[in-house]
Amino acid sequence: SNNMTEEGKPAPTNPNEDTIFGKILRKEIPATVVYEDEDALAFRDVSPQAPTHVIIIPKVFISQLSKAKPEHERVLGHLLLVAQKVAYNEGLDDGFRIVINDGPKGCQSVYHLHVHLIGGRQLKWPPG
Ligand code: C5P
Repeated sequence: SNNMTEEGKPAPTNPNEDTIFGKILRKEIPATVVYEDEDALAFRDVSPQAPTHVIIIPKVFISQLSKAKPEHERVLGHLLLVAQKVAYNEGLDDGFRIVINDGPKGCQSVYHLHVHLIGGRQLKWPPG
């Protein structure tokens, strides 16, 4: 069938989904999860840039914001509402920041779309 790799092995549903965040989603590597529902997972960044630094990812694979499609509208909105919920749970009542890095010039390093939620200290503007 055409759903086979050249080596004759069954191809993954989405061959591009094998990122470190895909492994976290599949519980193949551990993460400190702070929120989970049917469509999203939120966990603490391993290299926090502030007292709160949480990564929020969709369970559906989207490599980066610039590749998102109209059908992703609902899940993209959902990620922001999850960020709001986590910010509340983290006590970030004086403000916080969300960031989506896209592509090389945006300093994206993991190609599974994710929202950074950063807070718990005074942030500066503009970012680097
Ligand atoms: O937006 P960008 O792709 O650069 O962000 C990736 C983030 O994922 C980084 O902040 C990095 O610390 C984090 N990360 C993580 N756990 C991993 C690998 C990366 O929290 N296992």
